[in-house]
Amino acid sequence: EQLANQIAAGEVVERPSSVVKELVENAVDAGSTTIDIVIEEGGLSLIRVTDNGSGIEGDDIETAFFRHATSKISSSKDLFRIASLGFRGEALPSIAAVAKVECVSAPDGGGLGRRLVIEGGTITANEETSSPQGTDISVRELFYNTPARLKYMKTIQTELGHIADYVNRLALAHPGIAFTVRHNGNMLLRTLGSGDRLQTFAAIYGSATAKAMLPVEGEHPDYELRGVISKPEQTRSNRNGITIVVNGRYIKSFVLNQAMLQAYHTLLPINRFPLAVLELGMHPSLLDVNVHPAKMEVRFSKEAELREFIEDAIRRALGKQRHIPGP
Ligand code: ADP
Ligand code: MG
Repeated sequence: EQLANQIAAGEVVERPSSVVKELVENAVDAGSTTIDIVIEEGGLSLIRVTDNGSGIEGDDIETAFFRHATSKISSSKDLFRIASLGFRGEALPSIAAVAKVECVSAPDGGGLGRRLVIEGGTITANEETSSPQGTDISVRELFYNTPARLKYMKTIQTELGHIADYVNRLALAHPGIAFTVRHNGNMLLRTLGSGDRLQTFAAIYGSATAKAMLPVEGEHPDYELRGVISKPEQTRSNRNGITIVVNGRYIKSFVLNQAMLQAYHTLLPINRFPLAVLELGMHPSLLDVNVHPAKMEVRFSKEAELREFIEDAIRRALGKQRHIPGP
């Protein structure tokens, strides 16, 4: 069991941002409206995520730290209709295998909650405590018992950069959730959770940048697209400004990135990338999210058609602006 957890940990917990991702996704799945993230030393000394979601019921808190203890799937058939972000039940046990974890949680309006402490996969405390409704998980000394992994960590700034990239995009995917991120005591991000995506965008990239974005829209029998993209003059030297949200989930997609860049084709020099948020909706049967344990990569069943649809919508958005005849 412990070994299985450490092996799984290698897949799920690559670096501090992977821990942030798993904890924050759980908080989103729990229906939270506020998610507060506290980071110290790039996440290597502390990652703390506090949410006001549904909380974990009494004994379930211990179960949650065992493998495949997901509460999100009740039969293997459900694997084909996944709505929530997490569904493998691997994250918490994997994290607990390679760090010192404290979890305090209470359901139903709070009051009586439970506190569980696990160090390197071993439970060292499990007791009643008072707690507001929601879940508060602290992950300390990540990789303290796997020095080989620890050695691969980059600088604090690099690890923090990965965390910020991830949270920025998740916040964009969930404008209805108020996020804060603090690093070594400094507030790095605060979104209002008003539900307004452009306001969230402005909180992350600044309001001047937000005002200069072009709206993107597309309708298709299978797909719906909304979002904003930057004008060709406002590009960046990397892809980190591209956020793609599919059915409420922030994903990475080479195919969709390519479609987007193709639309900019003659307008962008090589190695320049737009700032963009694209929100795509489709029937869940048209995508496969179970490609990689980190669950960020998806596969689309009608890839060529989707590509064309995205390219077309972005061309139109750019065309309107620059009076280039549409396709
Ligand atoms: P998964 O998300 O794949 O179900 P995890 O290991 O991430 O697996 O979490 C295990 C279980 O712990 C979840 O299914 C959920 O029931 C519970 N859980 C974890 N984090 C939270 C949270 N922040 N709020 C409520 N429940 C949580
Ligand atoms: Mg999860």
